Amino acid sequence: MPDGGHFQLGQSFPALVLNADFRPLSYFPLSVWAWQDAVKAVFLDRVSVLSEYETVVHSPRVTMRLPSVIALKDYIPAARRPAFTRFNVFLRDSFECQYCGQGRPTPELTFDHVIPRSRGGRTTWDNVITACGPCNLRKGNKLPRECRMFPRQVPRQPTSWELQENGRSFPPNYLHESWRDYLYWDSELES
Ligand SMILES: [Zn+2]
Repeated sequence: MPDGGHFQLGQSFPALVLNADFRPLSYFPLSVWAWQDAVKAVFLDRVSVLSEYETVVHSPRVTMRLPSVIALKDYIPAARRPAFTRFNVFLRDSFECQYCGQGRPTPELTFDHVIPRSRGGRTTWDNVITACGPCNLRKGNKLPRECRMFPRQVPRQPTSWELQENGRSFPPNYLHESWRDYLYWDSELES
């Protein structure tokens, strides 16, 4: 059990997980492990500990501070081609309607086929875009030139790197101060 000044039941002490190149394994969702998994990985010698919480855990033989930032010892290469999923389409488009440019919470976002399915459009990276409800309704089954609605960016398959970069702009709900050095290079230098 964790022990220390402020441990409360239910507190999770997540560890930020970095790849062997010291960049987060993923930005969005941010790669974090529960403390139990982080501690186990330390004992299996699969990760290096870069930063720790004040809080310690005891086992009968060992006392250790909970890791707050860990780095994998073996590099995991990013998938070269990102999966074509609803979430990744939103992420590619930075959660913004590609017609009016408004950012909205995910539940209010929809998908639009630039060339409607009824007109032969396919469900692919280069024909599906993020749209808000009103724009989607307005566009309906029309071709872009019929309603003068053109996507702000020509849709295409993003690289994994592009998706990761987009993910960086969405700060996670939980952010321990020891994580900042590994997440926000530019903002840290400016503040
Ligand atoms: Zn819109």
